[in-house]
Amino acid sequence: MFKYNNITIEIIKGDITKLECDAIVNAANKTLLGGGGVDGAIHRAGGSKILEECRKLGGCQTGEAKITTAGRLKAKYVVHTVGPVYKKNEDRSELLYNAYYNSMKLADEYNAKSIAFPAISTGVYGYPKSEASDIAVKSVKDYTKINKNIEKVTFVLFSEDDYRLYCTKLENYMK
Ligand code: ADP
Repeated sequence: MFKYNNITIEIIKGDITKLECDAIVNAANKTLLGGGGVDGAIHRAGGSKILEECRKLGGCQTGEAKITTAGRLKAKYVVHTVGPVYKKNEDRSELLYNAYYNSMKLADEYNAKSIAFPAISTGVYGYPKSEASDIAVKSVKDYTKINKNIEKVTFVLFSEDDYRLYCTKLENYMK
């Protein structure tokens, strides 16, 4: 556990669909109509209610966020955000930063005290994991400046390697 201003940052290894927290974040695509990876896992575990709500949202731009309830999941809300597809010759870090930031902002507006993130854009969208984790942590740190309700941010890493990477990064940041 790490504490930065008013937010506690927790890192866990596991499946985000199992988390008990106010909001879990989905690394969705622009249609918000489901996909593979963590998106598929959330829709499968949460049931058709989430997709029904998503259909009414009219998609989501990269870096933006939308919210639905969480169906059968233990979380109260699913915040659907769209990270950028990685491009070697184009700096898309701001879009990834915004995906984290806008997800927190939206969850905060819904009075969420806890929010859990997967490693957005680091699967099919190909973002290098180390770079992506730096951006994720920076976004959370910056968000603490305007934060109202969020007490805890959990980074949920699916693989042991990703989990170790985040642990190392956070330890270095907090030095
Ligand atoms: P993107 O399209 O944004 O790259 P992916 O779903 O392909 O999204 O991958 C994002 C990250 O989520 C990857 O690091 C992947 O290992 C991880 N992931 C996949 N399933 C889960 C899950 N159930 N819980 C947490 N993380 C997951």
